[in-house]
Amino acid sequence: MTKIETILGTLPEAVSHTFGQGKPANYIPALAEVCGNKFGMAISTAKGRDFIVGDAEEAFSIQSISKVFSLSLAMHYAGEKVFERVGVEPSGNPFHSLSQLEYENGIPRNPFINAGALVVADILLSNLNSPKQDFLDHIRSISKNLDIQYDERVFRSEYDNGQRNAALAYYLKSFDNIKNPIAQVLDFYFYLCSLNMSCLDLARASRFLADDGRHPFKDKSVVSPLQTRRINTLMMTCGTYDEAGEFAFHVGLPCKSGVGGGIVAIVPGKMSLCVWSPELGKKGNSLPGMQALKTFVEQTGLAVF
Ligand code: GLN
Repeated sequence: MTKIETILGTLPEAVSHTFGQGKPANYIPALAEVCGNKFGMAISTAKGRDFIVGDAEEAFSIQSISKVFSLSLAMHYAGEKVFERVGVEPSGNPFHSLSQLEYENGIPRNPFINAGALVVADILLSNLNSPKQDFLDHIRSISKNLDIQYDERVFRSEYDNGQRNAALAYYLKSFDNIKNPIAQVLDFYFYLCSLNMSCLDLARASRFLADDGRHPFKDKSVVSPLQTRRINTLMMTCGTYDEAGEFAFHVGLPCKSGVGGGIVAIVPGKMSLCVWSPELGKKGNSLPGMQALKTFVEQTGLAVF
């Protein structure tokens, strides 16, 4: 057994004291119903080895983790132009905040808050022939899992509870920062949030970020090495919303979280990780997940700094 495997094996026990301290997301009934004390973690190394522990092969709602894959694909197609329409500064505000958009003239602070991800979804709509199918094919290809699907129930609930996202989209449109019909942008954005993947799928799918942008299973690039660096930087500074400072301080790795309780983390050049546990803290990030990443980094020394 490698050192990594041994440390991974200790994590379910090491985080168990955090169960019951947070709450699964409840803005969507389908998310609130998930059993709180699930815990899984997967690691995929740049050399192509995978390690898993706990519920690492159980699919869950990826929610905002999708923002990392949509940004990567948008950068692949539109390059630097993405950043003419979305900024690269941490927002310091909740992920669905509306207020900054007004005084910053419809340019979202970064691609990982909802406003920014709506613009990214709009860019993809302008570049993909069959946006949902093309995106799904891409995700299936980088995770090497043809069974990945979206969750119809979560998708419908996103609509039923999507008033803030709709408000953001209309607002962005008033600044001409949405080019496609709003209904299409929201539909695509909700679709991205409602994909179901496991920790293992997500660790594999994000391995390109630990490997200079190389596709994990094919001889081609997902993004360039420079773009890889930029995505990792944005994950470090903005990937966990208004808790990004805490994550950088305590974990020290580029991370992207989702309200389904998943967090993807990257050790540049070495490995990609995904941890999942549904109970969230006040800022919308998985509490046991954050604890697991913190413990992992303490024990392996694998932080960026
Ligand atoms: N679907 C959620 C939303 O748009 C995603 C939020 C998240 O995971 N932070 O509100």
